[in-house]
Amino acid sequence: MHDPNCLFCRITQGQIPSRKVYEDDEVFAFHDIHPAAPVHFLMVPKKHIASMAQVEAEDAPLLGRLLALAPRLAAEQGCNPYPAGGFRLVVNTGAEGGQEVHHLHIHVMGGPRPWLKG
Ligand code: 5GP
Ligand code: ZN
Repeated sequence: MHDPNCLFCRITQGQIPSRKVYEDDEVFAFHDIHPAAPVHFLMVPKKHIASMAQVEAEDAPLLGRLLALAPRLAAEQGCNPYPAGGFRLVVNTGAEGGQEVHHLHIHVMGGPRPWLKG
């Protein structure tokens, strides 16, 4: 379930502080420490899954929950309404995919442009 050496497992368990956005039994969301956009938070499963490359069929409901929750949290965090507003979801995967923390996470970015990246 958890990897004691994983940064995001430690964050979801409250062992490392974070600015929490949302929590339930399976999902944790918190603000990115280096925001690239006016709104920038990360959504993670509490279950340690290293990346999208390790996702299995049994994880589909969990991933569905994460994706279905994103619009609500994005709006609550200040992303402007679609279509003039909106948000960007990003899942970096592996070294060539730009992944730095090896616990599956969805970047949720939004707010008025320009942004730092992208
Ligand atoms: P990746 O490059 O793996 O897709 O994204 C990792 C993200 O985690 C980066 O945007 C980085 O700023 C964020 N991050 C890294 N360490 C911490 C931390 O200790 N706390 C928080 N809140 N975010 C972190
Ligand atoms: Zn982890």
